[in-house]
Amino acid sequence: MTKKRKLKLKSSARKPLVIISAVVVVIIIILAFYFNRIGELKNLGYSEEAAKSIIFKFKYSYIMDIGENKTLNAAFESDVYIEDNLDNYAKVDYENQKHLIRNINKLLDKGYSVNEVNLIISKGDDKSVSEFTKRDKVKYIEEFLSIDFAKLENLDRYVEYQDKENDDAETTVLYVNMDFDKEDYVDPLVIDDFDDYVLVNKHRQLSSEYVPDDLVKIKDEYVKTDEDVEIERNVAKAFYDMAEAASKDGMELMVSSGYRSYKDQEEITNTYLELYGQNYVDNYVAKPGFSEHQTAMSLDIASKSVNTFVESDEYTWMMDNAYKYGFILRYPRSKEDITGYKCEAWHYRYVGKKIAKYIKENNITYDEYYVMFLDD
Ligand SMILES: [Zn+2]
Repeated sequence: MTKKRKLKLKSSARKPLVIISAVVVVIIIILAFYFNRIGELKNLGYSEEAAKSIIFKFKYSYIMDIGENKTLNAAFESDVYIEDNLDNYAKVDYENQKHLIRNINKLLDKGYSVNEVNLIISKGDDKSVSEFTKRDKVKYIEEFLSIDFAKLENLDRYVEYQDKENDDAETTVLYVNMDFDKEDYVDPLVIDDFDDYVLVNKHRQLSSEYVPDDLVKIKDEYVKTDEDVEIERNVAKAFYDMAEAASKDGMELMVSSGYRSYKDQEEITNTYLELYGQNYVDNYVAKPGFSEHQTAMSLDIASKSVNTFVESDEYTWMMDNAYKYGFILRYPRSKEDITGYKCEAWHYRYVGKKIAKYIKENNITYDEYYVMFLDD
């Protein structure tokens, strides 16, 4: 009897135990499967958050076929993900913009093609793209924004400038980015922080706060003026290299001016204004903050023996060789329309060997180079 009862008890307890065990095993298998897939997605470059969302939206196979895609990662992390846009997300190049997915949704909704969405997003930043999505559909996206250095924020200016000037799209983008559609000295960009590659011209002004941090004195033997000449350390080094090479060719290079502070330039402008009048100053003298000499990256080159530099052999030598040492003639005669300055045969800007070579070989100005390659 006792035995029987015992057995009965056992058999009635076994059933739930088996079910519980089975459930536990199934849960373990599902979890193992789940974590395995999360791991695979993470290995592909998806975040934990995106990986979870991919699995819950049943897009695991879709993603495994596509592989790594940062825009898709952002889409699955986002709370504005739209299933219908999935294929398009995959085709938009990723940009690190806070509202990337929201903006892609809005642009697609306005009827822009994926290619147009790509151009708009790659040529703008989060703020300008977000603003742009508020507008009605705009024309000429591909015409202008397919140019490498185009900027979304300048799109209306491109359209307006081309209407007026009838230049091709690339020239239009270049000239508008150089602010050719604005008056000289009106509403310039003001620059505070020192930067070796800074561009200064009639649309880009250095503030009185803009002071180079590593000035050195040019050795007296190279200075053709009574005053000390200061310049940025690397520029001095490059100048000495250049002067040494020049001397092997029988040339005697010197400098007559280097760094000039905002205040120096103020005094110079006033002096010339009194001596020669406004017209002269407008054509030949940079207003305070508009002189490249304030960057400490520019030198006025002189010949030791000949006072008028253009008549010296050093002038010809510099035209042929300066780029090898990282210097460019900043205001050439053939580029007066671009630089906005009358030719200054003596004024050289240090930009480093690589950029100097490119500028020399392609016969362009630093203004153009900067807009095409350095401006962001
Ligand atoms: Zn100069």
